[in-house]
Amino acid sequence: MASKAQKNRFLMCPPEFFAVEYEINPWMEGNRERTVLSQARDQWAALHHHMTQRAEVELVTPRQGVPDLVFTANAGLVLGKEVILSHFRHPERQAEEPYFKEWFESNGFKVTEMPSDIFFEGAGDALFDRDVDRLWLGYGWRTSLEACDFVGRTLNVEVVPLRLVDERFYHLDTCFCPLTGGFLIYYPNAFDARAQRLIEELVPAEKRFAVSERDAVHFACNAIDTGSAILMNNCTVELERCLTQWGFEVIRTSMSEFMMAGGACKCLSLRLNENRPERRAQAHKPEMARRTVSMEGHLLDNGLLARVMDLIIHMGGNFEVLEFRAGQRRDDKSIVRLLVTAISNDQLETILARLVDIGMQVEEGSQQEARLGVVDKDGVAPDDFYATTIFPTDVFVRGRWIRCTGQRMDGMIVVDDQHFTATIKLMRDLRRGERVVVGHDGIRIHPKKEKNAEKGEFSFMSSAVSSERRVEIAVEHVAWEMMQIRKRNGRIALVTGPVAVHTGGIEYLCRLVRKGYISTVLSGNALAVHDIERALYGTSLGVDLKRGTVVHGGHRHHLSAINTIRRHDGIRGAVEAGVLKSGLMYELVKNNIPYVLAGSIRDDGPLPDTLMDLVEAQRQYAQQLQGVEMILMLSTMLHSIGVGNMTPAGVKMICVDINTAVATKLADRGSVESVPVVTDVGLFLNLLSSKIEELSLEGPNGKA
Ligand code: NAD
Repeated sequence: MASKAQKNRFLMCPPEFFAVEYEINPWMEGNRERTVLSQARDQWAALHHHMTQRAEVELVTPRQGVPDLVFTANAGLVLGKEVILSHFRHPERQAEEPYFKEWFESNGFKVTEMPSDIFFEGAGDALFDRDVDRLWLGYGWRTSLEACDFVGRTLNVEVVPLRLVDERFYHLDTCFCPLTGGFLIYYPNAFDARAQRLIEELVPAEKRFAVSERDAVHFACNAIDTGSAILMNNCTVELERCLTQWGFEVIRTSMSEFMMAGGACKCLSLRLNENRPERRAQAHKPEMARRTVSMEGHLLDNGLLARVMDLIIHMGGNFEVLEFRAGQRRDDKSIVRLLVTAISNDQLETILARLVDIGMQVEEGSQQEARLGVVDKDGVAPDDFYATTIFPTDVFVRGRWIRCTGQRMDGMIVVDDQHFTATIKLMRDLRRGERVVVGHDGIRIHPKKEKNAEKGEFSFMSSAVSSERRVEIAVEHVAWEMMQIRKRNGRIALVTGPVAVHTGGIEYLCRLVRKGYISTVLSGNALAVHDIERALYGTSLGVDLKRGTVVHGGHRHHLSAINTIRRHDGIRGAVEAGVLKSGLMYELVKNNIPYVLAGSIRDDGPLPDTLMDLVEAQRQYAQQLQGVEMILMLSTMLHSIGVGNMTPAGVKMICVDINTAVATKLADRGSVESVPVVTDVGLFLNLLSSKIEELSLEGPNGKA
């Protein structure tokens, strides 16, 4: 039951100069000059009437040029005879600050002003619990996260920070309304997951009601609690039923004019007789956590700094720039140091993990050593293990930076601090007693420079060129780079699937193998089966590859191909017996090019060469990928993703797929050197082989 109404005191401001004159929240958009003053006056008068029936109402003088002065909830936060004056985020509203200050001072309040770099929008974002001694504080859109500390210390009150994530509910009082007796109505989706959890933990289920979006957008949470009555714009019968059960009388009073500016009943009033409830809050201390991070590099020309800042805010933290030195010329490096703030150590750790992954370094006075945890069971990492990225990584151990070896993503860093080595291992390869990096201290990552479209390197990605021309340009680049790599005896890996056979691409792949462009082939059972079927019968899955027609009895061909290879104990046996005389697998055997065929659940046969032990297949793939400079990933999602995961940054991946989503997904797997090419793989191989022949003046077999 709500307690009996007491004479509350509120501050209001008549809407003499109210209008939507600017747009600083989504409700205002498109509503400039659309409010009707006479209607606003009537609606305000009706609310004022309801209020004066139940409470004392004081007025602040309306002023021209500050249309939102009418929203007195944002004047400040009152507690007893103290007030923390608001410091608005938007300059449009900062003009209200002196008027509210003047009113508070002339009415005997002790006014505290916010530091100029912390925004705080008063009782719009800070709401006292009506049952326990606790202040709920919304941040994210208007009020800064740092206001929690300042307000908590100034008023000596426990602050519960709640991050607001839906811009329609830009102030806490638009989506959260603590009521007499410890009840609460709120709109959960206006908050991030952590805030939702906190609310659920701190307010018993029987005392809170999650309003629907329908109630929320009608400003049902922007309600005034007079102790016995709830004044609000409107609400559904469900919400009314709940409030009535809790002992409140619901009074609806239309606020349509003020809603065009993003406010309703509660926004139009400020409670002046805030006294702390006697009941102490159940211990919940927000442990504001802070760490300094820094980064050096091309932060401006590749937009990295903007990305870092967005990421911190997006993840619910905040930052202060402690130092920023911009490079003077285009190629100069810039340096930035940021103080990152979060509302808990957990949240800070999550933010730091992301920042470290994109190249920031966590500082702590003097350089912090990497923290090491001991593996207590084979194949199991300590719980807070650090997971690696594809980028070159250093760890700071016993006063020295050590470069990790075996860089790949999703690995763990095993440190031997006697010999100063840091080795990246997969979880399953960890051994009891090994020491693994945990947390994010003492880790330095060297992300690669982002693609630079201006330099023309990736200009074929530009939307200004047609898709066919884009493929041609991509092929020109790839062909040229493959030739450079071959010239310096570098290694190129081919990862492909059976589509390369169906689309007629095998002949071109054979040429690339004969000319020495391919150093290793990583694939599955199907590529080999279909290539061999083609070599033995001229079909792929029973379809004549020359005519494109289904061959009578052809459905057996791939099984016969498998059977033949099994009879010879493998592909090499069939080549040596003179049974397999052409095709990609034949060329690989003849040219001594290693290949690894990894098994899958859909494999027919399988061929004796196919590794059905997937851990072993992964190991052999990784071994083959060592030292590779380029990977051609052609029309196989499965094997390309597998390969992408074990490849460090710096290796160029050419991801060819007919499906745009697959090509971009593969190319986006982290490596900035990756290039998506959306086209038919047969066509791509034809163009690639011809381009190489054209540029090198070589014939199909590599002879000039
Ligand atoms: P996948 O689905 O992982 O990849 C095939 C990709 O090819 C898709 O992304 C698709 O968009 C793309 N594609 C389709 N047509 C294309 C074209 N004309 N040009 C360019 N791209 C094109 O499938 P996968 O890698 O072929 O096979 C997955 C696993 O299943 C492999 O291990 C394979 O060996 C096995 N498999 C076995 C058999 C068999 O044993 N008979 C048959 C098929 C697949």
